[in-house]
Amino acid sequence: MSSLQYPWPETPQPGTTLQVAPGVQWISMPLPFQLDHINLWLLEDEGGWTIVDCGIGNADTRAHWEMIFKNIKRVPRVILTHYHPDHAGNADWLCKRFGAELWTTQGEYLTAHAVRASAAGYTVDAVLAVFKRNGLDEQHVHDMAAIRGNTKYSALVPEFPHSYRRILEGDTVRIGRHAWKAIVGHGHAPEHLSLYCPELNVVIAGDMLLSTISTNVSVWSIDPEGDPLRLFLESVARYRELPKDVLVLPSHGKPFRGAHTRVAQLEKHHEARFDELKHALKDRPKTAAELLGVLFRRTLDAHQTFFAMGEAIAHLHYLYYAGQARRSVGPDGVVRYANA
Ligand SMILES: [Zn+2]
Repeated sequence: MSSLQYPWPETPQPGTTLQVAPGVQWISMPLPFQLDHINLWLLEDEGGWTIVDCGIGNADTRAHWEMIFKNIKRVPRVILTHYHPDHAGNADWLCKRFGAELWTTQGEYLTAHAVRASAAGYTVDAVLAVFKRNGLDEQHVHDMAAIRGNTKYSALVPEFPHSYRRILEGDTVRIGRHAWKAIVGHGHAPEHLSLYCPELNVVIAGDMLLSTISTNVSVWSIDPEGDPLRLFLESVARYRELPKDVLVLPSHGKPFRGAHTRVAQLEKHHEARFDELKHALKDRPKTAAELLGVLFRRTLDAHQTFFAMGEAIAHLHYLYYAGQARRSVGPDGVVRYANA
């Protein structure tokens, strides 16, 4: 399998921009997480620049934006790939500052509001109930409840706009001299927006196609019986419809070429996880919590366990709905999986 090519060896310093295609600038912003940066993009537009993704809504990110604004006078719109806080955090701040419109999909717009308000089932307690049902012990549940204050969405996305322009799958969004085609993907966020420009041969992939890490795909409390991994793999396979040499602009890591190779690598990665799970289920039925060590061969802290549980359940749901695993609910109310 041929490897990926990275045309730019260095990531731009925060507060600076780097041109990656005509009228397309790369910005990197620091993040206070294990994932330590996010990529944002500026697209040349009529008399100004459209901003794609915003960074989290804290003073550090805004100070870096201020440095960039020295060279930007007008921002007609802010486009969001999806609602996650590292992408959406400054959307309202940017829109207000420039009188800009917010453009995104309906799923992402409404989800940002729901998560900010802890509405529609977006609560840590609801997530923990799903994890308990999937075998997570009381100690872990307790530890996770304790860290929830630090990771609260509304602290990272202090405001969010109250109107938007809706982008639908297949829409063409004209930005300056170029037309960008909307590709809506699922599994990582409800209606994740990617934008592909045939003229430039560039795709803004957001979190759907990352070069060195596999995208987080988790079962969440609002859709506890969902099959997000199937949705993700189907969505990511659509990158094969783009040219082999398309320049991929991901939200984390460096821009790269080799989209088809990367899709194949991700498919292989998840196939390997499925095989490992099936192997682990040979002796007796197991819960998602018991299988964390199979999928993640390192010690996980409470924060990492939170995401790992969602991913483990997603893998097991995939096997179950594909007819490759059976499941049963014990008298303890806990779900266990066995090989089909
Ligand atoms: Zn994301």
